[in-house]
Amino acid sequence: MATERKIRVKSALVELDGDEMTRVLWGMIKEQLLFPYLEMDLDYYDLHIKHRDQTNDQVTIDAAKAIQRHGVGVKCATITPNAARVKEYKLKGEWKSPNGTIRGLLDGTVFRAPIMVKNISPAVRNWVKPIYIGRHAYGDVYKNSEIRVNGPGKAEILFTPNDGAPVRQVVHEFQGPGILQGIHNTDDSIRKFARACFTFGYDQKLDIWFSAKDTISKTYDARFKQIFEEEYESHWKERFEAAGLSYFYTLIDDAVARIMKSRGGLLWACKNYDGDVMSDMLASCYGSLAMMKSVLVSPDGCFMFEAAHGTVQRHYYRYLKGGKTSTNPMALIFTWSSGIRKRGELDKTPQAVAFADALEAAAKETVESGFMTGDLVNLAEPSDQNRRVDTEEFIAEIKARLESKL
Ligand code: NAP
Ligand code: MG
Repeated sequence: MATERKIRVKSALVELDGDEMTRVLWGMIKEQLLFPYLEMDLDYYDLHIKHRDQTNDQVTIDAAKAIQRHGVGVKCATITPNAARVKEYKLKGEWKSPNGTIRGLLDGTVFRAPIMVKNISPAVRNWVKPIYIGRHAYGDVYKNSEIRVNGPGKAEILFTPNDGAPVRQVVHEFQGPGILQGIHNTDDSIRKFARACFTFGYDQKLDIWFSAKDTISKTYDARFKQIFEEEYESHWKERFEAAGLSYFYTLIDDAVARIMKSRGGLLWACKNYDGDVMSDMLASCYGSLAMMKSVLVSPDGCFMFEAAHGTVQRHYYRYLKGGKTSTNPMALIFTWSSGIRKRGELDKTPQAVAFADALEAAAKETVESGFMTGDLVNLAEPSDQNRRVDTEEFIAEIKARLESKL
């Protein structure tokens, strides 16, 4: 097969290389599962921690700009430096999280969803289709201002407009010690979040749920609800209805109760805190972090695909000592297949889309036939066929299945 004519991915895909074990897997995926079959132009950015350090993190900014230019990127996991990493890699400083930097530049929203296989059932049995979760990643309690109140006194919120009279409201008359918190959000950020959700939901053909608590928070959460409604009514309603899709607002507690009874196959748009909590719940319900895919979508429709997990540091140290690892490459493989599929859709090259489908099917069938990395063995339904394989063997199994499909 490898010597036959390769499939052409028409326009460039932006590649962001990363760190540690995921960098090793990333290279194996390219060598074994992509390069033998595809002819593609990669606009390559090396986000290895040492290279980010050498370029004073300029490479991360350049990569984000390249995604804006080309529309589609694929990212390997990267180290977010802390004090220990500064020492380990002799860095000039604690560079910011690349994901944070890129998200900021693209003004994007992150959507996560599980990769589902037949022999690993979600803890919630009726979730037969993936539930996508979109988390608003700006403001609220994550950008708050807090005061510990030591004794009696009056707490107020005060807004001083650049022009006009100050607005003041009493929060509470304290009779004794307590606590106090100020939070905010902006119309601009909420609107961009709503746009990214509708863009992504429409793209993936998903019904959208949005939840907040506007019965209690009649101004703050009500504004979220309003902006979502405005965006939907003015830009999306017709397209959604034509595609048989729906948008549904409900209270957060109602959403939690309903999601437990749903069959999945929807996008749940969450406020910042709700998304933080619910995405961890969903990930653990569906199984392993290594089976979660993630995509950053900008309000103007740029996509950056990645895995939800990190660089799998512990496995990397084992690998450096020459040991075999059984690290799961599924989410990284789906990162590439999703990027190639999106490229194919935008370029109108069905061969590229078909390759992505074949690669994903080969990867899922490998797990379904019982070939599993260490993290999956205990999650899967018991079977005589199940065997724990190392990373190389696992990728070789996928390759064999992929070849038979091409
Ligand atoms: P992690 O890399 O996600 O790994 C945590 C643990 O989860 C691993 O030790 C492993 O458990 C298991 N695991 C995760 N992915 C796996 C896979 N593909 N196959 C098998 N097991 C897997 O998180 P971390 O160790 O907390 O973080 C390591 C580095 O990643 C940090 O420097 C952090 O900054 C970075 N990070 C990057 C991103 C990103 O780029 N998007 C996201 C998160 C973290 P066992 O060891 O028990 O096998
Ligand atoms: Mg969390």
